Amino acid sequence: MTKKLFVKTYGCQMNVYDSARMADVLAPLGYAPTDGPEQADMVILNTCHIREKASEKVFSELGRLRLLRAERGQPMIIAVAGCVAQAEGEEILRRAPFVDIVLGPQTYHRLPEMVAKAARAGGAVLDTEFPPEPKFDFLPPPQSDGAAAFLSVQEGCDKFCTFCVVPYTRGGEYSRPAAAILDEARELARQGVVELTLLGQNVNAWTSDGWGLGRLIREVAAIDGISRLRYTTSHPRDMDDDLIAAHAEVEALMPFLHLPLQSGSNRILEAMNRRHDRDTYLRLAERLKIARPDLALASDFIVGFPGETDADFADTLDIVAQVGFVQTYSFKYSARPGTPAANLPNQVPEPVKEERLAELQTLLLEQTKIFNQACVGKRMSVLLDRPGRRPGQLVGRSPYMQPVHVDDVGEYRGQVVEVEIAEVHPNSLKAVAVAAERKRA
Ligand code: SAM
Ligand code: SF4
Repeated sequence: MTKKLFVKTYGCQMNVYDSARMADVLAPLGYAPTDGPEQADMVILNTCHIREKASEKVFSELGRLRLLRAERGQPMIIAVAGCVAQAEGEEILRRAPFVDIVLGPQTYHRLPEMVAKAARAGGAVLDTEFPPEPKFDFLPPPQSDGAAAFLSVQEGCDKFCTFCVVPYTRGGEYSRPAAAILDEARELARQGVVELTLLGQNVNAWTSDGWGLGRLIREVAAIDGISRLRYTTSHPRDMDDDLIAAHAEVEALMPFLHLPLQSGSNRILEAMNRRHDRDTYLRLAERLKIARPDLALASDFIVGFPGETDADFADTLDIVAQVGFVQTYSFKYSARPGTPAANLPNQVPEPVKEERLAELQTLLLEQTKIFNQACVGKRMSVLLDRPGRRPGQLVGRSPYMQPVHVDDVGEYRGQVVEVEIAEVHPNSLKAVAVAAERKRA
């Protein structure tokens, strides 16, 4: 009998990938995905610990699930996965003792055993180990029903930026072997995937058998059916010459790169232990644009890191104005227990963080608007992978990750289509189709 599984994902794309893989792992037990908790036999909250707000959301969601389960009077397995589970496993069981399973990001291949154990024992199961065996070796082949998919190639981080929990929740850097990645990419292409995003907390630190990410990108791009490639998230320190050259040489590699900078102040970059300064980033941006002149950069910023002065913040505004970013994520610094920066003196007061964030976001939004406006009249390829609101309308992503709506193209779903951008809307672009580049098999 089919049982219903609802997975709610918080946080980054790695979590999106992990959620899909948890569903793959549970499929042989008869679990099929459903899109809400109301009817679900099992609910997994795949959590994010990166900022305090993200963590707290989990506890309020757990409260709602407990009520829902009591109201409907039917069993429901409640599991908490991901980075909050890893960091606060015991605390979750203390604050929410009705939770059945708590599992970290490195143990979800063991979910079938945990489900069986929870059913048998009736008590909570906690598995937040960093097991010696890599989970990837135990996962079934991925199942994709779309034209775009994520593929995790690297996990964990050894950089230890002083604000970040990732090295503690995801563990040390691990690169999957190239052969396993290429097998998974071929399988996804066979299922109709045309766009692949290679994922890693520090994706450009990926290495296997002497290969770096540049070589891997060339090999994946050579797979029949894969016509668009991306990778995220990169660290400026790991952008090597071959990877930069891949941007010039690999046509399938989209001209868009998410390269987090965090701050424009050398003093703050050092205190963050980012291991590069502002000039290194500026030079890198320049080299990337020489390799691929139509390349656009995206980035992450943190304002209000401990000790950040008005002058440091001015350096951030200055470098943003110099580089120009088309898509950005900017955050107020959030002190995370156990990270070195949480104990630094000179924590920046909340109102100052808010003011700086508003000022930075105004500038960043303006840059995005200018970039979007400059797209009007331009032709670009869009992978139309989702239906829009209107009949016959499809939505997809431009090479620059902008959502693009196109009317009257229903028959092109899942294909890369050449479009001309006609209008800019607040959160998307509108385009007309010019030609279909590629038919799906
Ligand atoms: N590995 C990537 C890198 O090195 O830039 C980023 C990984 S992290 C999951 C995503 C983003 O969250 C970071 O780039 C940073 O801007 C933000 N972030 C991480 N820790 C934070 C904290 N304590 N407070 C605010 N933002 C944070
Ligand atoms: Fe966190 Fe820094 Fe590692 Fe990125 S590089 S995951 S910000 S420790």
